[in-house]
Amino acid sequence: MGTHAVEQAAAAEQTGAGAAARPDSATRTGLLIIGASQSGVQLAVSLRALGFGEHITLLGDEDHRPYQRPALSKEFLQGTVESESLIFRSNDYWTEHNVALVKGEYIVRIDKDADGSGVAHSSSGKEFPFKRLALTVGARARKLEIDGGDLDGVLYLRNADDALALKARVGDATDVVVIGGGFIGLEAASSLHKMGKNVTVLEFGPRLVGRAVGEETAEYFLRAHRSRGLDIRLGTSARRFLAGDGPVDGRGAVSGVELQDGIVLPAQIVLVGIGVIPNTQLAEDLGLTVDNGIVVDRFALASDGTTVAIGDCANMPNPVPGSTPGERIRLESVNNAIEHAKVAAYSLTGHREEYAGIPWFWSNQADLKLQIAGLCNGYDQTVLRRDEERGKFSVLYYRQGRIIAADCVNAPLDFMAVRNALAKGQNIPAEAAADPATPLKTITTDR
Ligand SMILES: Cc1cc2nc3c(=O)[nH]c(=O)nc-3n(C[C@H](O)[C@H](O)[C@H](O)COP(=O)(O)OP(=O)(O)OC[C@H]3O[C@@H](n4cnc5c(N)ncnc54)[C@H](O)[C@@H]3O)c2cc1C
Repeated sequence: MGTHAVEQAAAAEQTGAGAAARPDSATRTGLLIIGASQSGVQLAVSLRALGFGEHITLLGDEDHRPYQRPALSKEFLQGTVESESLIFRSNDYWTEHNVALVKGEYIVRIDKDADGSGVAHSSSGKEFPFKRLALTVGARARKLEIDGGDLDGVLYLRNADDALALKARVGDATDVVVIGGGFIGLEAASSLHKMGKNVTVLEFGPRLVGRAVGEETAEYFLRAHRSRGLDIRLGTSARRFLAGDGPVDGRGAVSGVELQDGIVLPAQIVLVGIGVIPNTQLAEDLGLTVDNGIVVDRFALASDGTTVAIGDCANMPNPVPGSTPGERIRLESVNNAIEHAKVAAYSLTGHREEYAGIPWFWSNQADLKLQIAGLCNGYDQTVLRRDEERGKFSVLYYRQGRIIAADCVNAPLDFMAVRNALAKGQNIPAEAAADPATPLKTITTDR
């Protein structure tokens, strides 16, 4: 692969791999990827695998080398993995593959021409000229705007800095209140409980994990977490956060959470996990269509026909075979970031390949290893498979007699069987699936 000396030097400097000159602003990178995380990294890697010969700039606002987020609420928080193991690729990889990795630059404005080329401007005043643009800007934590929301110790968990801030406070804390009973809230709550903290989870809704899973799975998690020692309160929200004695770093430190009914829970840490908001400002400013994310077609192209947008920030046609025509979806998962990046890489190299495979997701909470295959929206029947003795639990979702998804807890074989069946367009008849002793792969049928 040919490399451009100036850009190589720039990549080396930006990644810290060596000292050299800054990129010449007259040098137009072949592709500017804004957002250096799961989907941006995968896009660069997939493009090189497809033989994309142009220079790539992978730019992000974080000061860290691109890293994997899932461990932030699990192993990294618990201190069972080193931060180095979360890094996607070495500096040498980027240099060898002619990718300039730019850290710590936040893009505030983009000027773009009809042919897809343009210049991105960062908050520090730098310019990044490009031939093509990819938006992999992800999503940010939704803020809880109540009294005391800016107190020291009221935290969020979206990126490495958030995780470091949380870890730094854990040692001195006895009581933690987690606001939000979604995946991130439950993962972090489980980790903090394992670390010896008294953890209370407040969930505003009537059940855990919102609409991402069906009622049986939500109920299973509620009971499982309670039996493992988490204090979970449904239908409850915080009215305000209370400050303790004296300011810390110019602000007060949180000491408790007052609930809507006036009850006060002690808390030296409040972790808010109430969902994310896709980062769409740049796309809106560019005049791209935005609707719960940057609207893209089946080939990951935004409404201007040249910019690609993928991962957590993108709203795409539902890729599941057999889904309602015209249905759109925005997914927040590692698997989606990877598969969507592959679609975009094909687009950028002049191919037309649609999303391959079936969306899947995992979430590890204490000893509960949840794997979800497919999307359960619109199901009209469920089949429960429960093996109390082995701690296995699966819910299979059906629409008009056909399997569309499964939630599997500590049941990887069920998960694999459903994922494979969905990928091959096969069915797993509901009547036969109810017996947990029957391996699902043995009862899979062709259409
Ligand atoms: C704590 C945690 C645990 C998770 N656990 C799981 C799990 O168990 N399983 C799973 O499947 N998924 C999990 N996820 C979700 C998964 O990590 C995301 O779906 C994935 O990271 C999405 O990748 P992305 O590249 O689309 O977006 P992001 O990872 O959000 O990356 C976007 C990047 O763009 C940067 N950026 C945004 N705007 C700008 C700008 N204007 N200029 C420069 N840079 C910008 C952001 O700072 C960020 O670095 C978890 C996420 C978190 C936070």
